[in-house]
This record gives sequence, structure tokens and C-alpha cells, in this order.
Amino acid sequence: MFGLIGHLTSLEHAQSVARDLGYPEYAAQGLDFWCSAPPQIVDTIKVSSITGQKIEGQYVESCFLPEMLESRRIKAATRKIMNAMAHAQKNGINITALGGFSSIVFEKFNLQKFQQIRDITLEFKRFTTGNTHTAYILSKQVEQGAKKLGIDLSKATVAVCGATGDIGSGVCRWLNTKTDVGELLLVAREQERLKSLQAELGRGKIIELATALPLADIVVWVASMPKGVEISPDALRKPCLLIDGGYPKNMATKIQQSGIYVLNGGIVEHSLDIDWKIMKIVNMDVPGRQLFACFAESMLLEFEKLYTNFSWGRNLITVEKMDLIGKLSLKHGFKPLMLSGIHS
Ligand code: NDP
Repeated sequence: MFGLIGHLTSLEHAQSVARDLGYPEYAAQGLDFWCSAPPQIVDTIKVSSITGQKIEGQYVESCFLPEMLESRRIKAATRKIMNAMAHAQKNGINITALGGFSSIVFEKFNLQKFQQIRDITLEFKRFTTGNTHTAYILSKQVEQGAKKLGIDLSKATVAVCGATGDIGSGVCRWLNTKTDVGELLLVAREQERLKSLQAELGRGKIIELATALPLADIVVWVASMPKGVEISPDALRKPCLLIDGGYPKNMATKIQQSGIYVLNGGIVEHSLDIDWKIMKIVNMDVPGRQLFACFAESMLLEFEKLYTNFSWGRNLITVEKMDLIGKLSLKHGFKPLMLSGIHS
């Protein structure tokens, strides 16, 4: 059995989902209520592979919300993630993906040291961040998106916003070794980490976001931002492909201007319908088939009975592991979101 630990994108989103699901008393509640809500299994999922294999999984809602990252609620945020992991393990789930902010909170607050949650000793090998598959899918979206828009990658400038992050660094490694990219722009805030990534890659220009945007043919957004940033379309090249892999989205506005293409990043489409409700709640365009690549990673590990924390720690994603998870992704019928997700 596989598991997915997820959360909603904001308090407003949580309130509207509660209203839609017929819990008006929850919909009226503020952040304090969500801080005290326990994790819950809210969906049972059945997935078939194109190989004919069938697996079953469960979706664990952690009740974490990005607003909990403000300083006085950090304890609640970390508690949500640990309790959700304990809940998954207690329910016998073999391999669970830590979706959205779950793995970011886990790493940032070094939660590895809190292995004992009441009577449960967390077995970390039962969890994966899902970030290797996400980095692979984003890299493929760069390659396939460029092709679709007639952008010659060998002459193109690709900016990775969140380059020093777990997913961003994986994407940079792939673009550096597997793809012939003209210029690579590295965007993040902390300079030391940027310099060490640049040294590892042996290339890449460290640059501020505002300076990078007008230069980039393709922008990969993988910053861990509780709220998206506002971008003026006038600041962008045309054509320009914006691949937004953040959850919540890194861009605050839906940009609609000729020559600017926005692609839902880090999303896969399965070849067969998945029996679940949850992707409707997070507003996927085709909720029966589209899902976050990190969630798909736990499905792939379940299909292969690879009960191991395939993606774990920070900035350890290798091109070899991206290649491996990419092959499994294709084998079981997943593909990077592409044509239907691009609109001008
Ligand atoms: P990390 O925390 O490892 O990395 C985040 C990166 O963003 C760092 O480089 C950080 O560097 C940078 N960053 C943060 N804030 C800003 C800012 N204001 N401006 C510029 N850079 C910034 O995160 P992950 O790599 O684990 O995740 C990245 C994103 O991907 C998140 O939004 C996450 O929710 C999403 N995600 C999507 C998945 C999917 O399946 N589609 C799966 C898992 C995650 P610095 O702090 O130095 O600025």
C-alpha cells in the first residue's frame, strides 16, 4: 500500500474545501482550528499501471497550511507533518510521499531527530520526498516545452528560480549533463549556497530574479514560497515558457499575454483513470489523470515494491536516480504534463 501526505494551499482554500465537502462548521473556522486538527485519511486510491498491475493507496490530509510557517505557529507546522507521518505508518502504509511543504518543513526543522511520536517510532525508509521524480518531470517539461515552442535549447537561456533547493538543484544537474542548454541562470537568495551549486555544476550565472526574467526563454519555478510573487508580463521575453512547479504556485497571477506560455510544472498525466477524489480538491484540470509528480513517485515505488526512501535528505538528487525513476514512470504509464497544460 502506498500513501500520499498532502495539504491545502491556504486557509481560504481549506475553508472553501470544507464548505464544498459539506462541513460548514469547519469552513467558518480560523487558523487556530486548523492548527489543532489531527491528520486524517480522507481518500482511498486505486491505480492501474499500463503493465496491468493494480495497487491501492491512501491520502493523508495533514491539515498543515502554509500560513503556519509564520514564526509563532512553527511548532504547529512541524507537529502536523510528524503526526501525519505517524498516522500513515500506523495505518500500515509501506511507502508514503511527503507532498508540497511536508518535506520542506521536515528538512528545514531537522525533524529527523524526532523519531518517536507517542507510541510510534517512525521508520524513515517508509517515506520519500518524491523530489527525484518531480525534478525529472520538470526537466522533461523544459525539453519537451522548448521543442513545442520552437525554442532551440542549445541557444536558449533557462532560469531556475529556487536553483539551490532540492528539486531546483536536481533540475540544474539534469540540464547541465543531459541537455545542451545555452545559458543557465541560478536564482535564489542565499549567496553561499548559490556559489557552491555553481562550483558543483562548473557553470551557471548567479543572478537576481528581476534581472533574470527579461533574459530567460524558459523559467523553471521551484522556490518554496508560501505565497506566489507578482510578475509583470512586460518583464518577460516573448516567446517565454514559464514552468511553475511550486506548491502553492510561485506566481501570484495567471499571466495571459500572447507569447507567454504557462505550464503547470511537476505534474504528470497518467494514461489510465485513477479512482480517487483528491485531485479535484487541488484543482487539477483533469483530476482523474493528473497528479503531482511527487505523489506519483510513491505509486512507482509501490508498483516496483521498492520500499525505500528513494528521495531523502537535501540536494542529493542525482541524474542517475532521475533517469531510473523516469524509466519507471514511462513503464507504468505516466508522462509529463504538456500540450493541454500550455496556453498562451
Ligand atoms: P527547497 O526548500 O529545497 O528549495 C527551495 C528553493 O527556493 C531554494 O533554492 C530557496 O533558496 C529558494 N527560495 C525560497 N524562497 C525564495 C524567494 N523568495 N526567492 C527566490 N528563491 C527562493 O524546496 P523543494 O525543492 O523541496 O521544493 C520546491 C517547490 O516545489 C515547493 O514549492 C514545493 O512545494 C514544490 N513541490 C512540488 C512537487 C510536485 O510534485 N509538483 C513535489 C514537491 C515539492 P533561498 O532560501 O536561498 O532563497
